[in-house]
Amino acid sequence: MSAATVEIIVLVFVFLFGASIGSFLNVVIFRLPEGKSLVRPPSHCPACGHGIRWYDNIPILSYVLLGGKCRSCRASISLQYPMIELLTAALAIACYQRFGLDASLPLYFAFCAALVAITFIDIPRQIIPDEISLPGVAVGVAASFVAGEVRWTDSVIGAAVGFALIALIAYGYYFLTHREGMGMGDAKLLAMIAAFLGWQSIPFVLFAASVQGLALALFAIGMGWMKKAPPLPDPREAAAPPGEAGDVPLRQAAVPFGPFLSLAALEWLFFGPWLMSHLFLGGYAAL
Ligand SMILES: [Zn+2]
Repeated sequence: MSAATVEIIVLVFVFLFGASIGSFLNVVIFRLPEGKSLVRPPSHCPACGHGIRWYDNIPILSYVLLGGKCRSCRASISLQYPMIELLTAALAIACYQRFGLDASLPLYFAFCAALVAITFIDIPRQIIPDEISLPGVAVGVAASFVAGEVRWTDSVIGAAVGFALIALIAYGYYFLTHREGMGMGDAKLLAMIAAFLGWQSIPFVLFAASVQGLALALFAIGMGWMKKAPPLPDPREAAAPPGEAGDVPLRQAAVPFGPFLSLAALEWLFFGPWLMSHLFLGGYAAL
């Protein structure tokens, strides 16, 4: 076999492996926040409860062959399932391109998978499960010894500084406004990110996450999407004057920060060296 043939076979294998992990992440995303087991019961249709047979559970392909509908009751299957499988497969390919067949590959792909799960749990529920972020910190520090992408000291300092920074911002914001902005879930997420990427990533991750989060929030408000969202029930606001309900001011609009921290982390992981040399004129690289 030629080298090109071998490379194509490896790429196909990495893609299929990534898609399978994405299939597992779908289970994590829907079951973990509800405290349900990840293995029992086996996958079933949420509409009719019918068990999903193995040939209807093939990542991406089954969704296409079934036309996005349950074989038993024809209820629509959420497009989120194949999209997460496709996204995870793409991240597996990206990790393979970035690291090659190296010890870093499974560790940093696990990091990407954790970011995907956290993102799609945080968007609808505004929580970041400790069950993912805290083991993530430990694996990130362990990865610094095994993979050699970052020094272990940079990893440990990153975890501590990442947590402390967001905890400080969150407490300061709450102290000043008596409203919750960022939560401790975000602090543990940045600790995990900086454990994998080193403390040097923190300025970029915080800056890029804030800019992209703000840009999307302004876009959503411009499109009129955010006003329609009902305010979260808050016992402190029970005495709010009538007429204000239903109209959510910008400072009250709930935009989860976790997905933007995750996006910025992926940008740093895959484009960090390029970003450093082009946007920071190499000065940042001296760190
Ligand atoms: Zn069904």
